[in-house]
Amino acid sequence: MIFKDIESLKLILSEPKTMSIVSHRNPDGDAYGSSLALYLYLLKLGHKVTVLSPNDCPDFLKWLPEEDKIVIFENNIKRGTKIIEDSEIIFTLDFNAFHRTGEKMSKVLEKVDPIYVMIDHHQQPDDYATFSYVDPEVCSTSQIIYQFLEKMDHLQYIDKDIATCIYTGILTDTGSFRFPSTSSETHKIVAHLLDSGANNSEIYNKIHDVNTYSRMQLLSTALQNMKVVKKYHTAYITLSQNELNKYNFKKGDTEGFVNYALSINDVFFSAIFIEDKKQGIIKISFRSVGDFSVNEFSRNHFNGGGHINAAGGKSELPLKNTVSKFLEMLPLYKDSLM
Ligand code: 5GP
Ligand code: MN
Repeated sequence: MIFKDIESLKLILSEPKTMSIVSHRNPDGDAYGSSLALYLYLLKLGHKVTVLSPNDCPDFLKWLPEEDKIVIFENNIKRGTKIIEDSEIIFTLDFNAFHRTGEKMSKVLEKVDPIYVMIDHHQQPDDYATFSYVDPEVCSTSQIIYQFLEKMDHLQYIDKDIATCIYTGILTDTGSFRFPSTSSETHKIVAHLLDSGANNSEIYNKIHDVNTYSRMQLLSTALQNMKVVKKYHTAYITLSQNELNKYNFKKGDTEGFVNYALSINDVFFSAIFIEDKKQGIIKISFRSVGDFSVNEFSRNHFNGGGHINAAGGKSELPLKNTVSKFLEMLPLYKDSLM
């Protein structure tokens, strides 16, 4: 991880400033974990800080320290816009292109001219930041926040709440320390987080003990809808809006479903297509194991991106046609998939 120009940023942060921290739409554990950790740290430095999220998080993140202080932009557009306009510095966390904050918020971010600090671990960043701390090799933005504090010579500021937020981001983005992005450095950092007060089993339980009967029924439907394309070592799942409604779908309920498709032996590319009638799109998650880049696949065909082994995307075609398009694309990648 290279922290270019960190001395200049240190100087800027040595005087109290008004600033905000922004994460991506449909925030996950890493987006909220990294944002709240940075928030708590910047408060300790004496700054006036607000965390803004384009929309609300799933229930399994609602317990995070200071989560209730986050301003949900799409529910408070006037206030959110003022906060952005008043910010001398805006930290953008866990994303690298304004459009990831959604249509409403990205319009405002494009208009203002603060010092932008990008802290992120996705590939192919846009060019809007004055300071960029980006490393696609690192498992999570939360780990980069830890490394940022280290570079600021402020590891001593990590208390129980900050450690809990960073731990949560690392835990969720590494699939509980099992993805290849989990490094020895990750484990060293986690050791320090536990020593600083993070309670690993409590955090795990808060994140995972959210199953409801209706969510299990939705999972059962997803598994029944799963199809395997043996020739291309690919498996995919569909969920229609009707199926989501039938099982009382709540944000976060489909988290992890796509991994069931990937867990089939001999499958190394998986996708889930989830119909969202309100937004008029099909939300897609892609996963892979090995060298097949779902970031490239999603960028090329489904208006998205992410990492080599985990990416998201969307389609404005109906569900059936989206799946047909997906199936038509597979032969183009036969050299990597067969
Ligand atoms: P998920 O499938 O869990 O929504 O996303 C997987 C990964 O891809 C996450 O790291 C997420 O930030 C990224 N991602 C999801 N959707 C998009 C998208 O539309 N564009 C880009 N560039 N990245 C995405
Ligand atoms: Mn992340």
